[in-house]
Amino acid sequence: MQVEPERSATLGRIGARIREAPDRATMLAQVVVDVRMAFAADRCAVYARLPDESNQAEVLARAESGALEPIASPIALRGRRLEQCLEGEVVRIERVGDTLQDETLRQLGVGAALLVPFFAEGRVEAGMSVLFAAPRAFSEVELVMMRGIAMQVEFALAKIRLLESEALRRRRSELLERTMLALRDAREPHDVLALGARALGLEFRRPCAAYELRDGAFRPVAASEVTSIREPIPERSVDTAALRVQIVVRYGDRDLVALPSDGQLRSLFALESAGTSLGDDDLKFLRAIATHAALALTSALAFEQLRRYAAEGAALTEAARTILGFSELEPLAEALCKLALRLVRGDSACAYGRNPDHLSLVGCAHRRAGAPNVETLPSDPRDAEAALRTAFGFAPLIVVPMLLPGAGDLEHGGLFVVTRRRGAFERAETRVIEALVTLAALAIRNVELYAQSTRANRALAESNAFKDDLMAMFAHDFKGPLTVISGFAELLLENENSDSRSSIEAIAGQARRLAKLSDDALALAATQSAGFSLRRNHEDLVGFVRDAVRALDPGGSRIRVDAPDEPVVVPFDRARLRHVIENVVGNALKYSQDEIVVCVRRAAGEAVVEVSDRGIGIPAGELERIFTRFGRASNARRQAISGSGVGLYIAKKIVEVHGGRLEVTSQESVGSTFMLGLPLA
Ligand code: ADP
Repeated sequence: MQVEPERSATLGRIGARIREAPDRATMLAQVVVDVRMAFAADRCAVYARLPDESNQAEVLARAESGALEPIASPIALRGRRLEQCLEGEVVRIERVGDTLQDETLRQLGVGAALLVPFFAEGRVEAGMSVLFAAPRAFSEVELVMMRGIAMQVEFALAKIRLLESEALRRRRSELLERTMLALRDAREPHDVLALGARALGLEFRRPCAAYELRDGAFRPVAASEVTSIREPIPERSVDTAALRVQIVVRYGDRDLVALPSDGQLRSLFALESAGTSLGDDDLKFLRAIATHAALALTSALAFEQLRRYAAEGAALTEAARTILGFSELEPLAEALCKLALRLVRGDSACAYGRNPDHLSLVGCAHRRAGAPNVETLPSDPRDAEAALRTAFGFAPLIVVPMLLPGAGDLEHGGLFVVTRRRGAFERAETRVIEALVTLAALAIRNVELYAQSTRANRALAESNAFKDDLMAMFAHDFKGPLTVISGFAELLLENENSDSRSSIEAIAGQARRLAKLSDDALALAATQSAGFSLRRNHEDLVGFVRDAVRALDPGGSRIRVDAPDEPVVVPFDRARLRHVIENVVGNALKYSQDEIVVCVRRAAGEAVVEVSDRGIGIPAGELERIFTRFGRASNARRQAISGSGVGLYIAKKIVEVHGGRLEVTSQESVGSTFMLGLPLA
């Protein structure tokens, strides 16, 4: 069959324009114009089937002369002719008749028509109608031409669809990547939800909101547009089972997208104004966004929980610092209640203590005036809770038994209650209160122990005071009569030559000994008292030692002092150090017969006084003991040399309070050297 050259040129032109059109709309707009012109038709229109199942088509492009009645869009795909076309044939109607099957055309004022199907992926997706007001015949050539145009359009549509889906895929993968990066950095669950809703809203050009499950309903928390914030969606009205397997579930005019975290459906996205059903590519994209958002949500929730734990920890540490400092029960209970209100934003908090047959209020705090004060509660925990529920108007409560450590049961503990009028408590809040109550129990125990130890301390202080009085009386009041006895004994001895002399000597000796003992006791009492302190002055140790030695050995027959000419100045308490020197030198005199050497010198950082004798010495292994209270060496005891064993104990104490040291080196039966070291000025 021969297509005339003019027509063939037209065909070529149409074909070129179809191929070069940048997009579908431009291409179709051109096709209808070109075809109408080429065929001198009164109307040329392209229809596409609506993607839903309504079997309707909408007009995508048209060109017309105005000779025909206007057409409605969408139109129903009904009637014999259309069905034929939908089966893939070019339908040729040369004269519209009166039959029922031509009724639609006749109503539009059509005399002749060509209906041309466009195939896409093996199915008629679109079609073109070429209508004429007057009846006319169509040549085979015209039909071939029409098929040719249809084929070109089909190619172009396929190409455009491919390009479009390429572009879509690229755009979505870019959007996905951007969203993924943003999700990765999102730390707050809210940010994750907002990002996801924005990405979906943007891609589908539909408002999208994110919802979170709280108190039995999915509540909007973020949205791509303000308008998409809507009423909460009751949990039971959503087919959550379907959402678990299906990713998208239709809910009224919304598409719900599941966002599971940790295997639980606690959040979802809702895309509004659902019209056509979503395609495979759409579902794929939705799934990708939802999966990433779900992952990000899980980690954000975990992060949030970590942060909450850290905050709880910090709050509890702070709480511990506050409540462990109390020493009385009532202020402690009140502080505890205030803390509880702060930690969980409660309305009222009450602490109850246990009495034999009931619980009674120890402390409470209220955020609002007029909150009930329940003074007593039944001791059975369940009855107590029931009473509280009634009193607080069935508001949410946290009721925690208070177990005191060491007490083991509720017998000494109590009950702690926090309540809030609005909003149930979360598990985390209950946990915080439980931790707080554990702390409180410790604090209460503390208070009890404090009270006990205060009582014990008082008793101890009283008995100490008694002991001190006793010691002072013993030391001081005994000394007076003793001095009198000694004085009279000495007087008697001076005028006495008779047989009774040795008896009087014994009296005088024992009286001296008793006086020495009472001196020691007085010194000992002084070192034991809490206020044992020094009155230090910087003085020359050499002169001080010489004086002390002179008093002990007035004739200078037994002691040789070996000291430098220049002074050795150290800070010391004269009276106390005198006691030390007297004791150490006195011991040397007592426990030896030969010459004693007292040496004063300067050593590294300290002033040293050494007292050496060639006396009975101290057995090896007993060197430590002689510095203990009442500690005496075995040889001294054996040889019945009188002594109390407190002198060196006191001396060492005095030296140590000076920051110095008192040490001994000795060999039994050879002699001893006592070394006293004092830090230099
Ligand atoms: P006291 O001399 O009154 O018994 P001290 O506390 O002064 O008490 O001395 C404790 C013990 O140390 C003495 O009993 C004695 O056994 C021993 N001791 C102290 N100085 C010497 C010394 N110079 N030679 C031998 N033993 C000594």
